[in-house]
Amino acid sequence: MKLKYYEIDENELLKKTGNEKRVVIKLPEGFINYSSKISEFLSKNGVDAIIYASPVYGACDFVSVDIKTIFIGEAEMPYLKKVYKNIEFVEARYEYDVKFLRKVVDSVGEKIGLASITPFIHKIKEAKKFLEENGKIVYIGKKSRRTKYDGQILGCDFSSATSIANMVDGFILIGDGFFHAIGLAIATRKNVFIANPLSKEIKKCDEMKEKLLKQRYAIIAKAMDAKNFGIIIGEKKGQTRYHLAIEMKKLAEQHGRKASLMMANNITNYIDYSDFDAFVSTACPRVAIDDAMKFKKPVLTPIEFEILLGERDWNNYEFDQIL
Ligand code: SF4
Repeated sequence: MKLKYYEIDENELLKKTGNEKRVVIKLPEGFINYSSKISEFLSKNGVDAIIYASPVYGACDFVSVDIKTIFIGEAEMPYLKKVYKNIEFVEARYEYDVKFLRKVVDSVGEKIGLASITPFIHKIKEAKKFLEENGKIVYIGKKSRRTKYDGQILGCDFSSATSIANMVDGFILIGDGFFHAIGLAIATRKNVFIANPLSKEIKKCDEMKEKLLKQRYAIIAKAMDAKNFGIIIGEKKGQTRYHLAIEMKKLAEQHGRKASLMMANNITNYIDYSDFDAFVSTACPRVAIDDAMKFKKPVLTPIEFEILLGERDWNNYEFDQIL
């Protein structure tokens, strides 16, 4: 079945429903426009689909469920297998010819790290072979407990890339969008080229990375005089970091600031109405970074909070990761 540019395997989808007569379907933002297509397909095959009507952010994004739930588009997080009792995944794929990487061959150094994200990761070995045929030495880092495939990165887990960073001159990220690329560049401190299989374009993310770092610096500065912090815990199972939140609360108190724990499933600007001066989000890193403009009050990552309190130097800025 075609969903925008991507394909999902109908047989796999039916298989994943098991013997259930009713399933919840969770779709990422880009696929919500295909709700009725999926619903009608399942209905024709004797299964009632309940389309989840709130935003879905990733394989991390679930709480306990009674009805079987199928995530479309995402790859499972292996470490959550035991917790995913009633949850299945049907990945989306985009078929592309790796030869478009020829455009990046002359720009990157000799030793390259390769990384990718779910819809494009199935071609990463083919991409490696192609780049090797074009004279490069190519490394693909091992998967982590949160990623299913070697070379796969998440917006909160760049460990497959950081594990090979000292062996390479730079990275090629086979993916679309800047969020993963900027995180990859900050986490590895290497040049990153984004090779987009959809547009076949190659882009560098340096400018966007500098812009983001300036924005983060300004947000830390804005929070500098805050006396009372809300430390947010993500309720979604794959984002919950209780221990880190408690650590952040203690750290605030050691530095003479007040702090209270908060919990949310979707973190929205509702928090701006609370009487906290600023927030530290221990949930998905995207909340503080990607959604920054949605909040009136500053929302920091735990690493930024350490910088604010003088526990870490700005030159040691790191992208928040859930490892
Ligand atoms: S925590 Fe955030 S970045 Fe990580 S997988 Fe979930 S949605 Fe993606």
